[in-house]
This record gives sequence, C-alpha cells and structure tokens, in this order.
Amino acid sequence: MSGRTLERAAWSCLGAGIVGSVVHVLGGTTNIGSVVYGLALLAIVVSTVISATRHQLDRRILSGFFVIIAAIIIGQLLSAASLGAVEHLVAEVAFFVVQITLVLGLLLVAQRRIGREPLGILADASILSLGAWLVVWIVVLRPLFAAVSNEPFVAGVRGITFSLSAVVLFLLVTLLLGDSDNSTVVWLASSAILSSLIGDVLWALHEAEVITISLAARNAPYVMALFAACATLLHPGIRHLTAQGSYHAARPMAGRLIVVISGLVVPIAVFALTDAQDTRDRVVRTVSVLFLSGVVLLRVVIAVRANAQLQSKLIESAQTDALTGLPNRSLMLEHVDTALRTAWRDNRQPTVLFIDVDRFKNINDSLGHAAGDDVLIAVATRLRLILPTHCVVGRIAGDEFVVLDPQTNGPNESMVLADRVLESFHEPLALRQGDVFVSASIGVSTYRPSVTNSADDLLRHADTAMYRAKESGRNCVAIFDESMLASVTQRLAVETALYRALERRELRLVHQPIIDVGLGEVVGFEALMRWDREDGSSISPAEFIPIAEETGTIVPIGAWALLEALTHLGEWIASGICPRDATMAVNVSPRQLSDPNFVNLVSEALTRAHIPARQLWLEVTEGVMISQPDQALDALTKLCDLGVRVAIDDFGTGYSSLSLLQKFPIHSLKIDRSFISGVADNADARSLVRTIIAMCESMGLDIVAEGVESVRQLQVLGEMHCAKAQGYLISHPVPPESIASTVATINDLGPWPRTRRPG
Ligand code: C2E
Ligand code: MG
Ligand code: MG
Repeated sequence: MSGRTLERAAWSCLGAGIVGSVVHVLGGTTNIGSVVYGLALLAIVVSTVISATRHQLDRRILSGFFVIIAAIIIGQLLSAASLGAVEHLVAEVAFFVVQITLVLGLLLVAQRRIGREPLGILADASILSLGAWLVVWIVVLRPLFAAVSNEPFVAGVRGITFSLSAVVLFLLVTLLLGDSDNSTVVWLASSAILSSLIGDVLWALHEAEVITISLAARNAPYVMALFAACATLLHPGIRHLTAQGSYHAARPMAGRLIVVISGLVVPIAVFALTDAQDTRDRVVRTVSVLFLSGVVLLRVVIAVRANAQLQSKLIESAQTDALTGLPNRSLMLEHVDTALRTAWRDNRQPTVLFIDVDRFKNINDSLGHAAGDDVLIAVATRLRLILPTHCVVGRIAGDEFVVLDPQTNGPNESMVLADRVLESFHEPLALRQGDVFVSASIGVSTYRPSVTNSADDLLRHADTAMYRAKESGRNCVAIFDESMLASVTQRLAVETALYRALERRELRLVHQPIIDVGLGEVVGFEALMRWDREDGSSISPAEFIPIAEETGTIVPIGAWALLEALTHLGEWIASGICPRDATMAVNVSPRQLSDPNFVNLVSEALTRAHIPARQLWLEVTEGVMISQPDQALDALTKLCDLGVRVAIDDFGTGYSSLSLLQKFPIHSLKIDRSFISGVADNADARSLVRTIIAMCESMGLDIVAEGVESVRQLQVLGEMHCAKAQGYLISHPVPPESIASTVATINDLGPWPRTRRPG
C-alpha cells in the first residue's frame, strides 16, 4: 500500500466516521446502531494492524493505541445495564485506563512537539483537571452518589475519569495552541479525542439527570472518535506525530491563558454559588479547593522562575557574542570598568589589547563567510588558550577582539602580553577547509590616571594604537601615546571637512600636460584634484584622497572631477587651445570602480561634455586588479565597451603580474616616477624602463613616463622610444585658466632637445 493510498484511506475513514455517527443516531435502538458501532471497532482493529506493519511508529504510541482499543472494547462489553456491579466497576476502570493512556500519550506528543516548558504544561493541566473535578463533583458526582448509592465505587472511578478528561482536553488545547506547527495527523488525532470527550460529556449529563439524551445519541460521538482514530492510524504523517515540527512565529500565550483562567473561574463560581450538602461534600470541597490553591501557587512560582530565567538569559545573550561565545563590547566595557575601579587597591595598571585580524575581508571574499566565521572562532579559541586565566577576552565587532589583563603593572608587562598574542598568530589556524595563516595588528593601551578617565577611554586608546599598527604595515604591535590622539583628531577634522568640500566649492582641478616625446607637442592632460580649505590652507591629494576613499566621499567628488575635467577639455578643443583629438586622463579610485552606477556616470559625463569616449583615459592603480579583480574586470570591460581607455597608473609600484595585464582590458601603462628618476644615471633603472617599454610595444600598449624632471631623463626616454611623457620639466600641473599659455609655450618650443627652456 503506497503512502497515497493510505492517505486516501485515512480521509475515507474520517468520512465514514461522519456518516457512521449520523446513521448511528438515526438508527436509534435498532440493530443498525450496533452494526455501525461494531464496524467502527473492526475498523480500528484493522487500522492498528495496518499502521503497525506499514509505519514505523514510536513503540510507546503504538502500545498506547492497543491499550486504548482493548480498554474501550472491554468497557463497552461490560457496561451493559444488565450486568452486575463488579462488571460495571471493571468497565469504569477500563474507561479510566483509556483516559490515563490518552493523558500519557498526549503528554509525550505535547512534550516532544512543544518541548520548552513541560512543567508549566503539567501545572496548567493540573489546575484545569482539579477545577473540572470540583465542577464534576458538585454537578454530577455528588448527585450521582446520592442516586446510585449502591455503586459508590463506580461513581468514584467515574469522577476521577472525568477529571482526567479535563486533563486530556487541556493537553489537547495546549497541543493545538502550542508553538509547534500542527500537521494533518495532529488535527486527525485531536478530532478523535475531542469526539470521545463530547461522548463523555453527553453520558455525564444524562446520568446526572441534568438532561435526557438517547443512548444512540450518547454513543454517536464514540463512533466518530473510533473512525477518526482509524484515520489517524492510517495517515502516513503519523510517523512524525512525535517529531518536534517547525515553530510558529508567535506563541499563542493568550489562548492558553484564557483556557486556564476560565478553568479556574468556572469551578470557583460553581463552588461559591452552591452550598455543601453534608459533611462528605464539605470535606471533598475543602480538600479539592486546597489542592487547587496549591497548584495555582505552584503555577505562579513556575511562571515567576521561568520569567527570571528568561530575563537572565536575555541579559546574557545581550552581552555575549553569539558566534564565539565571548563577551561583547558592552560586557567588555563592564569588565574594564571594574578593573579600573579596583586598580588602585593593589596598585595595578590594567592593560587593554585591541586586536584586529589583518585583511579579514580577503578571507571572507576568497574562502567564503563560513570560513570567515571559522577563522573568528579559531582566533577566539587561540586567544583563550594562550592567555592567563585572569585575562578576559571579548569580541567587540567583526574581526576585532579585545583582551583585558587587569593585573599588569606598567607598559613593559603590557608589551610582553601583546607580543605573546602576536606570536600566537604565527601558528596556522586549523580550519575545516585546511590550515590558514592570519596575522593581526595589535593596539596596546595601559591604564594611566592622567590620560585614562574611563573604561571607554582605555578601549578607544587601544583602538587608536591598533590603527597605528595597521598603518605601520600590519602584523605588529603599537603602544598608545597621546600624540596619536592629535593625529586622530586631525584626521577626523579632515574627514568632516571633506564631506562639505564639494558643496562649499573648495575643490578644484589642475591639469598637467602630457606630450608626445617625438613631436614635443601636447597631446593630452592629466586632471589632478586640489583642495583649498576655507581657512586658506591646502591639503594635498596624497592626504585627502585616501580618506575620501575610506569614507566613500570619493564617489561624489570623483564624479564631479570627471565631469569637470571633460568639460574643460571640451572648452579647450572648442577654443583651439589643443588638438581635436587631445585626451584627458582622470584618476579613478577602487571605490569608484565598485560603484554599480560608475559606468553610467562616465557615459553621461562624456555625453554632457561632448567628448568622444576614446579621448577619456581612466587611470587606475595596479592594486585594483589585485584587491577586487572580479568587480574591477567587470567595470573596466563595460567601460572599454563604451570606448573609454584604461591606463595603469604608477606602474611598477604594485604587485601586478603579466597575466593580470593580459587579463584586464588595458590600453596604456604609466611608468612610475621612481623608475624615471633613475633613467638618466642609473643603468639598472634604464634597463628596467627599456624592458617595460619593449613589453608595451609587444603587447600593443601605449606608454607614458611620469615625473620627468630633467632634460637628460627626457632624452634617454626619447632614445628608448618612449611615446609620451609628463613631469615638472614639461609643466607643473596648472589651473585651467593657464592651460592656453602653457600649451602654447610647450608647443612653440618644439621637439627635444631644445635650445630654450619653457618659461
Ligand atoms: P598620480 O595620479 O600618480 O599623479 C601624479 C602626481 O605626481 C601628482 O601629484 C603630480 O602633481 C605629481 N607630479 C607630476 N609630475 C611630477 C614631477 O615631475 N615630479 C614630482 N615630484 N611629482 C610630479 P598630486 O597632484 O599631488 O596627486 C597625487 C596623487 O593623488 C595622484 O597621483 C593620484 O593618485 C591622486 N589624485 C589626484 N587627483 C585625483 C583625483 O581626482 N582622483 C583620484 N582618485 N585620485 C587623485
Ligand atoms: Mg594619475
Ligand atoms: Mg602616477
């Protein structure tokens, strides 16, 4: 039998249950009712056998089903009115067994599926069952005892069974309202249990003579219950009945609260509105109410404790880094604060190390984020392992770790500690992906009352020192001193001012002509940015471009420079200052290349300035090809498709390889000034430059010599057939208004060597 067939059979059973119970009612006292009941019993036996052989059921669940079926059959057979008191008692015990098995089964399912607070569930269930017991006692049992005083045990067992029915009902509601998503099979099982509970209620009401209900109508819910149980047993989903299931996003606490409160309020109301009839009644009522109060008290204690535990868990998780389990920034600050407050007592100078994993982004980018996480966990483990137990290690952000040693006694001991940490990075980290080497930059800050006012200060100073370690080439230690604060403040001021520089019109462009070495004529320009601040000071691009790059300000100011440079070129061509095919070189930072809008921006600037794309040279450094090869390749390819040319700036100072030069769409190399300065009198520099020129020729690349400062340099470059050159010898970068005279002077002088020098 396939899963599909079983599922279909399950739904058919449910249908049969509905039809069967209706037929059972309509059949009344005729034999039809008994036939339907018999069929239901037969169906449940067959379904249990099928389920036992087809589904690998949890053995406890299966035995539960067997017990319930056996008990129902025994109960039904022995409860006939014609039989004696002993048989009636056995029948009642059988129904009690059904309820207790249901309670245990539901507890198992509920505990597996809800799982989080079984104690709370039990307490709630107890409140409900005790409340139900009280109502059952007052409304049904006590009158029943009076009516059937000849069968007091039957009445007693039935009372307990009724109370258990309340527990069953509660567990059912908890299961359905619990925080686990309910599967079809849970709904099927619930409908079976609910039907049988309805049957119990009808029986109780009838027997207590509250209302008269026909036998057929009282038994009809049991027919439904049996068929629904068949459906549950046959449904393939029953295998996962005790599986945890996925969780609801929101836990329906309100529903549970309403059920428990009404389960408490109803019995109390019934209790208050009725009087005790005799001493036995009074005793039962008092004991029941005492138990009920005890359970309510227990429930309150459980709730309060659960709340306290939750709160401490929340506080802990708010102060712990989830990935490494280390204290996070706020907890580290607390630790540092405590260390500082107690430092004077034993004359200590606590130390904070600020550790930043070098080039962590590369690890993430190349090995993936999972490997990045593994590196962080491995670093955390390594730090805990090598540091003395009195040190506290925390992770305060991405790849930033902090170590607090509350017991150091001055900078020397701090340095020993920092060296120990640095050395620990010399051993590779063993990851699932294999061994990985990482280094770290470490900033050290030791407590000094004169400069450290707070925990935050000590941490910030260590952070500042760490930046110094980064600037010094990484994989090293830097100790904080006050002079670092001044440079940080200065940098911050530059950063802030740079945000406003563009709108305040403090930026401008200057242009350095590029000549054709053979002709001695200007064939292009390089645009260079200048920043004159409001206060009259000027900041060199070497200082502000890296900051703009880091803060992202380079994107808007770079866009401005591009449009401005092309507009200038357009004006010069239009006024005949330079040839129609003169080129404009604009420097581009890696950050700009990774801006998804950059290609559009270039295209728009070309259109607005009416400059053909081939007259725009974009200068990028070798680093771009190494640090973000895929992004750069993508952007540069798109730019090339536009017709724009690409030049490698400062060639020779980076680490680019010939394979990279071949892979990237490059049209020109600009030989760095450091090589050109040696060509006049250094044979090695000369042969290096000659090799670069030969390589460019063979690869079909244009070539520009940068930073030409002497006639001799230019002559040598000419002899080597270097195509183009720029440098102070030819012209310093000049403002746009001086371009006309500068170009005229250069062109007038003609090819090199010259008799006259440009003025
Ligand atoms: P770069 O692109 O290599 O520009 C050449 C630098 O060398 C310029 O410095 C220029 O003034 C200088 N220079 C030119 N000829 C000579 C010479 O004969 N001797 C010496 N000693 N120096 C010479 P500058 O203008 O200070 O620019 C420095 C760097 O700032 C540029 O190097 C470039 O990387 C960056 N930069 C300048 N403007 C921009 C810009 O608009 N955007 C971007 N992203 N970077 C820019
Ligand atoms: Mg340049
Ligand atoms: Mg350069």
